[in-house]
Amino acid sequence: MQRRSLLLAAGASLALPTLSLAAAPKASVIIVGGGMAGTTLAKFLRLWDRGIAVTLIDRQPKYVSNIMSSLVLTGQRTVSQLTYTYDSLRRRGVKVVIDEVRAIDVVNARVTLASGAVLQADRVVLAPGIAFEAPAGAYDDQRMPHAWQAGPQTTLLAQQLAAMPENGLAVMSIPPTPYRCPPGPYERACLLADWLRVNKPRAKLLVLDANADFVTEKDNFSSAFFGLHADVIEYRNNVVIESVDAPTMTLYTNTEAITADVINLIPRQRAGRIVTDAGLATANGGRFAPVDVLGYASTAAPRVHVIGDSSATTQPKAGHIANQEAKICADALVRVFNGLPQDTAPVTNSACFSTITQTQASWLTAVFQYDPATRTMVSVPNSSGASDGWSAGHFKDMNTWFSALMADSFA
Ligand SMILES: Cc1cc2nc3c(=O)[nH]c(=O)nc-3n(C[C@H](O)[C@H](O)[C@H](O)COP(=O)(O)OP(=O)(O)OC[C@H]3O[C@@H](n4cnc5c(N)ncnc54)[C@H](O)[C@@H]3O)c2cc1C
Repeated sequence: MQRRSLLLAAGASLALPTLSLAAAPKASVIIVGGGMAGTTLAKFLRLWDRGIAVTLIDRQPKYVSNIMSSLVLTGQRTVSQLTYTYDSLRRRGVKVVIDEVRAIDVVNARVTLASGAVLQADRVVLAPGIAFEAPAGAYDDQRMPHAWQAGPQTTLLAQQLAAMPENGLAVMSIPPTPYRCPPGPYERACLLADWLRVNKPRAKLLVLDANADFVTEKDNFSSAFFGLHADVIEYRNNVVIESVDAPTMTLYTNTEAITADVINLIPRQRAGRIVTDAGLATANGGRFAPVDVLGYASTAAPRVHVIGDSSATTQPKAGHIANQEAKICADALVRVFNGLPQDTAPVTNSACFSTITQTQASWLTAVFQYDPATRTMVSVPNSSGASDGWSAGHFKDMNTWFSALMADSFA
């Protein structure tokens, strides 16, 4: 119950009168992307003001959760167990359109779909997640899967790992920050090391990190990499992949050429393509979209908002944060459409569990609040931290947290 309350915390400041369903909608919102951010926004807009007409557009009829998807690689979860539908949103009165958004008119809040249809609303909210930057050279994501957008890529990497020779070499590459799910690559490496020890006892996992050090949860990951999993994992930092040759399974790095049996190449990331094409991705070297975190309006286009991994904020690119940003955005839009004052003190929180073995996990949590001086979300002192080590109890808590988060966004 406590965790559930935390999930709802971002909307807790909302103190609006009960709003009745108007005969004609008082306002309309188009949401592009039905992932962690987009579905949460659609749900909470309808929960908080049924007078707002909400249209959600996603190119896929169902959503596959990235969260927990590394457990598919070890056979502990299936992709179908991680698949969510939009049925609950439809029951809440959200119009769900399965199509791809090809273009956005950011001034007139208008979107053009692959089918040719053109839709317009009072506001457009972009929640398209991430796009990958293909490495130089002969890159092929079928030979070097990223499995960083769950679905067929996850299944492919699982198959390649299962077919790897008993004494094979698997390589995982970690891109420079900012990327989706800061602890994700390290937790995947730990999980795979535990799985390899049992299933491919003489195999090794080489982790090539483009960053100078573990980007988060350093104590737990360094204990796991250099202690618990030291017989399987070799960790190299400051390794940048300069080009690749998929036919020969070779990575050319700033230090050497590496050939491996399985390569889980997680490419550098940027905002979903629709954000970049609209000219909104001007932060982080032109990769992500700057926003006003009081309501997630684009700093370049006030009728367009950007939430989730595509936005450039001081918060981590995580599903839990995507859920929280969506609630802040929903609150802000309900206030705008009802002539109510803006909430100038939003608070968000994030919990993250990391699998250190197939049965044990660690955790990391953070609370952010708006800082008017910098106009950013800053970490609240003494409210953030990580577990001291890992345990089976934390693994159990991880499953509870995941179910609560997904229900909060999709049910
Ligand atoms: C292996 C892994 C483990 C993770 N573990 C955790 C974790 O433990 N905790 C955590 O909090 N986070 C975790 N994350 C991160 C989390 O999955 C992301 O931060 C989160 O999904 C971001 O939500 P989003 O809505 O921005 O993007 P997404 O969830 O990716 O949703 C984007 C949606 O937009 C749609 N879309 C994109 N472009 C278009 C278009 N042009 N037209 C129509 N539809 C479009 C896509 O089909 C997709 O459904 C993990 C990620 C990975 C890869």
